[in-house]
Amino acid sequence: MNRYESFNRVEISRSALRHNLALCRQLAGAGCGIVAMVKADAYGHGMVECARILAAEGVETFGVAEVGEGVCLRRRGIGGEILVLAGTLPETIDALVEYDLTPVLLDGSLLDTLAERAARLDRQIRVQLKVDAGMGRLGCPPEEATEILRRIRALPRLRLQGVMAHFPMADDPGSDNTTRVRRRFDAMIRRVAGFLPPDCRLHIANSGGLFYGSGTGLDLVRPGIALYGCPPDGGVHGGGHGTERLRPVMRFVSRVIQVRSHPAGTGLGYGHIFTTSRPTRVAILPAGYEDGYLRSLSNRASVLIRGRRVPVIGRISMNLTMVDVTGLEGVCAGDEVVLLGRQGTEEITADEIASWMGTISYEVLCLLGNLNQRVYVE
Ligand SMILES: *Cc1c(COP(=O)(O)O)cnc(C)c1O
Repeated sequence: MNRYESFNRVEISRSALRHNLALCRQLAGAGCGIVAMVKADAYGHGMVECARILAAEGVETFGVAEVGEGVCLRRRGIGGEILVLAGTLPETIDALVEYDLTPVLLDGSLLDTLAERAARLDRQIRVQLKVDAGMGRLGCPPEEATEILRRIRALPRLRLQGVMAHFPMADDPGSDNTTRVRRRFDAMIRRVAGFLPPDCRLHIANSGGLFYGSGTGLDLVRPGIALYGCPPDGGVHGGGHGTERLRPVMRFVSRVIQVRSHPAGTGLGYGHIFTTSRPTRVAILPAGYEDGYLRSLSNRASVLIRGRRVPVIGRISMNLTMVDVTGLEGVCAGDEVVLLGRQGTEEITADEIASWMGTISYEVLCLLGNLNQRVYVE
């Protein structure tokens, strides 16, 4: 990543990533494989680095959105199977074949072209099929799966590696939608069973489906957010289901660049959306919306300094954020500030930041991780 040297940095913990993988494996059970979802630069954690850490732990299948991400993984030495989940258009076929990526087919439109290309190169191409069992987004309707799978079976150059679907509401542990989608998937699989090769692997579970149970019992699970240490339900249903054992992988750390004192009645920063009501000490950090610390966190977020929680005050600007450190002894320029993660016994979670921003942990991790310089720690 070509970022300038900065006072802001994202720290990625290798041991936390390994720990979360082990937990996912334990829940998945013996005989169930992991597709590690490393799309979006591994949710801001660094796709290549994370894939290397996970591959060293024995992960053999990775999930990315687009072909370009798969090409990048291969060029950086990642082996195993790489699923390309967000569609393949005819112009991606060369790269798919050259880099041995597995397209997740959404319908039958590419089958003949893929088979022709494979024949010309005297190769086999692995494919998987995505069925829309209730997500209402990508994939083929269950009733069309039989015909597509029949065509795949008739094309010896194509090897069907898997059939998958995706849950729309698996982040809600109590959702009966998830049970219904699972039933529709299972029913479709029973109908097409005759067209599936014996080593064809079935999978439906994201992190929610894995932790809350409705996606288990198949051949693979596809955790993303859980690998990066956040509960799939945003923490709103409390612990249980094992999510309390997840360990956050990312920290976002900055420094104090100035500390100032203001009398009561001073307007601070753009728009003066905060006015001091008492003599106030303000610490200023060189992080702002450019770094993914969004403007919607103005007057709302908290950060950790010297092991204590202090509030963000005033407008977050492009590169600057103010925090109220009144009464906190000894704060000075150079102090470490934690915007996400643990400092001492205090912790700010991605879910907490997400609640201040009106979003979900996924978006917080992508923003902070992909806009800042990353360093890998044990
Ligand atoms: C991103 C993604 C996942 C992982 O979802 P999490 O909620 O992060 O576990 C699984 N399957 C598909 C198809 C995805 O796109």
